[in-house]
Amino acid sequence: MLTKIHNFSAGPGILPAEVMKKASEACINFKNSGLSLLEISHRSKDYVEVMDEARSIIKQLLELGNDYEVLYLGGGASLQFGMVPYNLLSDSGYAAYVNTGTWASKAIQEAQKIGRVSVIASSEDKNFSYIPKKYTIPSDADYLHITSNNTIYGTQIKEFPKSNIPVVCDMSSDIFSRKVDANQFALIYAGAQKNMGPAGVTLVVIRKDMVGRTTRKKLSMLDYAVHIKGESMYNTPPVFPVYVVLETLKWLQANGGIAWIEKMNNAKAELLYNEIDTNPLFYGTAAKEDRSYMNVCFLLHKPELETIFEKTTKEAGISGIKGHRSVGGYRASIYNAMPIESVKVLTEIMKEFAIKHG
Ligand SMILES: *Cc1c(COP(=O)(O)O)cnc(C)c1O
Repeated sequence: MLTKIHNFSAGPGILPAEVMKKASEACINFKNSGLSLLEISHRSKDYVEVMDEARSIIKQLLELGNDYEVLYLGGGASLQFGMVPYNLLSDSGYAAYVNTGTWASKAIQEAQKIGRVSVIASSEDKNFSYIPKKYTIPSDADYLHITSNNTIYGTQIKEFPKSNIPVVCDMSSDIFSRKVDANQFALIYAGAQKNMGPAGVTLVVIRKDMVGRTTRKKLSMLDYAVHIKGESMYNTPPVFPVYVVLETLKWLQANGGIAWIEKMNNAKAELLYNEIDTNPLFYGTAAKEDRSYMNVCFLLHKPELETIFEKTTKEAGISGIKGHRSVGGYRASIYNAMPIESVKVLTEIMKEFAIKHG
């Protein structure tokens, strides 16, 4: 018999089973057309409806004002590392970045290829195990770039900095996981494959006054203005990923939206962190007040128990909890679609493991 798999993968991450079913049906017979979603024109009425709905549901869930545009683009969050400075960083100005881990560092490196960058705060001194807080945001920078959730190190911003300059936020791994005032940001981007859909599409939410900030002559595909004008259909969009994102967000909305998922996510994270804090064999790596409620990183006090812990979890159907090489140990990613039952399976195993090997 096949054991039930509990998928703790950091990304691409778990999606709701109902959404998988809808997605597979759309591949065979989309909206009863007798055609697959994969073989129809993106300009067809059926698909334009998908794109329109996929854009409007973002505005609803994030409670965005009319001064925002929603885009679905290719290239991953990694392309946004470059597109953000390419579009927002002026020749004479500079951008302020907060370095909270691998992804933030990559964003900094890309921005440095476009213009001047000032890293105004960093937690690199302690292997990115905390979120820097007391830093001054320069009032003359073109924008401030932050990362809301650090997928690899398991830290998360709980209180966003108050800023007088435009704030750009990489929300790839915690968008739609908790209530956030999205209207405080000038630009939000998120690769879909952590918490909102499959790989292949990136969400960009951009405030209209961020368009046309620089005079450099831009490649069309890298120009936000071009994608806004084309309503995310300047070229063939990632049709299938956008559809799966839409179905995932409809699933979220139908179940009670952000307020519901935040409650679930809090319950899951508190259950797991409580086990880590009370279990004598394990310890968490992130500073307590900055712990991520999406990616939970923990280690064994005795590394010699690792092989047997890995065998035990595998036998219980637990998948994807191996930590990233830059932290080691374990990382349980408990994205929106992960049921609390799967987290309970993990905490029960940790409890039993402590009785046997403590
Ligand atoms: C995964 C991740 C990225 C990179 O996403 P790609 O879509 O693979 O380019 C960037 N930022 C964060 C916070 C991530 O978790």
